[in-house]
Amino acid sequence: MEDPLQTNLKHVRGRIASACARSGRDPGSVRLLPVSKTVPPERIRLAYQSGCRMFGENKVQEAAEKAAVFADTPDLTWAIIGHLQTNKAKVVAEIAAEFHALDSLKLAEALDRRLQTEGRSLDVFIQVNSSGEESKFGLSPEEVPGFASALRNYHALRVRGLMTLAVFSDDREQVAGCFDRMRTLQERLRDCDRAAGSYHELSMGMSGDYELAIEYGATVVRVGTAIFGSRRLSA
Ligand SMILES: *Cc1c(COP(=O)(O)O)cnc(C)c1O
Repeated sequence: MEDPLQTNLKHVRGRIASACARSGRDPGSVRLLPVSKTVPPERIRLAYQSGCRMFGENKVQEAAEKAAVFADTPDLTWAIIGHLQTNKAKVVAEIAAEFHALDSLKLAEALDRRLQTEGRSLDVFIQVNSSGEESKFGLSPEEVPGFASALRNYHALRVRGLMTLAVFSDDREQVAGCFDRMRTLQERLRDCDRAAGSYHELSMGMSGDYELAIEYGATVVRVGTAIFGSRRLSA
């Protein structure tokens, strides 16, 4: 008997492939990042056995605990996808393969220093507030080009692209507006000689909106509940 997790994974992978077909994109150009926050290690192991290799976590403490559990599985890696306080930079520098929520130079500096100490580098995504909501983290789109230039000072950070959370809404046009702003900003950065790193990656789309995000150029979709089921309690 197949576990619901495996059924969900097949379903999500199928929908990603369909969204790629609809928008004339190569299915290999979109990576599924399963978001395993609040999900216990046994379930993560099952997802690993079903082919998942990187998992997204939004809390550093939880990610560190899980990284310790999977220390014997070196090809299982972690992406930190949530807002980070500077004082947690050390842990991220130790355990993360990717960081999707870079939103200040203070944090860039702290991460860079810790990474230099560890002798490693880290793939990072600049978080953008594409909806303009005050509750959301991230830089405003206007701030990003200047920020991206300033990141040239931090050599352990490999800037890969941009990340956003679209407005949480049933109004498809509003959600699409967020993704469209990201695509425009991505193009702007690709043309900007001073920006550090490359801007091939767009980390956007969650359980409710990943197909739409793919139509607007997402290269990483961060999907939690559609794979692991609903999260009990707060997440
Ligand atoms: C929780 C979370 C997700 C996944 O959300 P789902 O709606 O469960 O797919 C994606 N991105 C971030 C930053 C998150 O915190």
